[in-house]
Amino acid sequence: MDIKIEIAKRRTFAIISHPDAGKTTLTEKLLLYGGAVQLAGSVTARKNQRASTSDWMELERKRGISISSTVLQFDYDGYRINLLDTPGHKDFSEDTYRVLTAVDAVVMVIDAGKGIESQTRKLFEVCRQRGVPIFTFMNKCDRPTLEPLALLDELERVLGIGAFPVNWPIGNGADFKGVFDRHSHEVHLFERTVGGQFRAPVSIGNLSDPVIRERLDEQTYLKVTEELDMLQMAGESFDEQAVLAGKTTPVFFGSAANNFGVKLMLDGFLKHSSAPKPHTVDCGIVTPEQPEFSGFIFKIQANMDPRHRDRIAFLRVCSGKFERDMTVIHSRTGKKVRLSSSHKLFANERETVDEAYPGDIIGLVGHSDFGIGDTLTTDTKIVYREIPRFTPESFSFLHNPNTAKYKQFRQGLDQLLQEGVIQILHLKDSAAKIPLLAAVGPLQFEVAQYRLESEYGAESRLELAPWTVMRWLPAELKEEELDALQLPTGSKLAFDSDNNPVVLFSNDWSANYFTQTNTKAPLSNLPPGS
Ligand code: GDP
Repeated sequence: MDIKIEIAKRRTFAIISHPDAGKTTLTEKLLLYGGAVQLAGSVTARKNQRASTSDWMELERKRGISISSTVLQFDYDGYRINLLDTPGHKDFSEDTYRVLTAVDAVVMVIDAGKGIESQTRKLFEVCRQRGVPIFTFMNKCDRPTLEPLALLDELERVLGIGAFPVNWPIGNGADFKGVFDRHSHEVHLFERTVGGQFRAPVSIGNLSDPVIRERLDEQTYLKVTEELDMLQMAGESFDEQAVLAGKTTPVFFGSAANNFGVKLMLDGFLKHSSAPKPHTVDCGIVTPEQPEFSGFIFKIQANMDPRHRDRIAFLRVCSGKFERDMTVIHSRTGKKVRLSSSHKLFANERETVDEAYPGDIIGLVGHSDFGIGDTLTTDTKIVYREIPRFTPESFSFLHNPNTAKYKQFRQGLDQLLQEGVIQILHLKDSAAKIPLLAAVGPLQFEVAQYRLESEYGAESRLELAPWTVMRWLPAELKEEELDALQLPTGSKLAFDSDNNPVVLFSNDWSANYFTQTNTKAPLSNLPPGS
């Protein structure tokens, strides 16, 4: 099989949104088009069945948030689509950011009744930094929305991205009648179906077509023709290059719950997004079609299936062809590793994968030394540095109230540290053996506690620590130089898991004060070497 053909078929993307904007619903409808799910509703149904498949998922159900990222692969219209689900809650942003390093495009779902919300803005920023193409789905058009022109304006003003509406809504709220496709000049009429269970029927015609015209009242007709004129007069044409560079976002209006506008968005996305692109590494450029296999691990997850106590490392294939049983080099350790247990994942089910191509995500089971950010390759010169690091803002001591369970407590904690769920710090000159945990957000601690208990049977007790700011010191500072530092009241010296010195401060003000009083010890938001 020609690798170029396989690569050209691949589209790897994630959906980003503020919680409740409709990401899960949209995912479910996309799968419907992929023929992967017969009836809409099964992803959300799975949301409720999860307790029976994994205890850990129960937390998701209870909190109504999505913790784990799922990789879904399906075929549609000649394409092989890899859809990476991202957790939406702000405390899981670190995990989400890592997932975003493994995609070639994103679909941003916005609740058209609310406009751009805080989490969308943050996630968008990450995508923009990486220059990822962004497609926008204005969801919930079956309910009253903000003015469509105001929504476009918001994209430009708040996110600073050009917006090109590919289709345009006709009517609003209870009077939502459908969308006008600005490329084909066709109208897709919206018809409500019970519970949005089936593919929504659509009829197509021109706006001036009498069949369409008679369905629209005078006011709606005048409004939409005026808006379309305004867009036309603004004179923007669809700029493919600007879309691929992440500078302009194509905008689609619809309603995921009613499966309306979803196919238009999916078709538009496939048409205007790109197949996997080359990656820049230290030694130059790695093209997807080059024969040397390479990829990087962007996520590690343990105990996805309580029946198998295992650990899956998710790898994004970037170049060459993956074949089961192939031997690769694990760049960080320089060791040769045979990849025999590789899986494709569909939600919680897994299937052995024999081959994979750039753009694909594979789950590798049972390699305990694989870590987040690691490169696997057949060419030692290729080393990816794709995974961003974030500065923790929440700190907590984790007590083990049951000494008899110390072994389970420690084993579970080590696993969570390896997965990157939380980090561990050691206070300088402290004899206490209580682990000090650091995370981007406090909910990560709750997840850690929940997992310790449900997966390792280890209870724990959190004791919130008083710091909110962590900064790294230059790694070369010697013991006596560290001791000579003037620490503001309430701050503490500590070491991260790589033994780099850090300072914990109660607030930014305190960190600024430290900077002024210790001019020889500049602070950094990131660990040395990142
Ligand atoms: P997520 O948190 O972004 O994954 O959001 P969900 O897909 O779980 O949706 C949040 C809520 O919005 C659910 O109650 C959905 O039924 C509802 N919803 C999703 N899409 C639409 C839509 O197009 N119209 C309306 N009215 N509700 C929707």
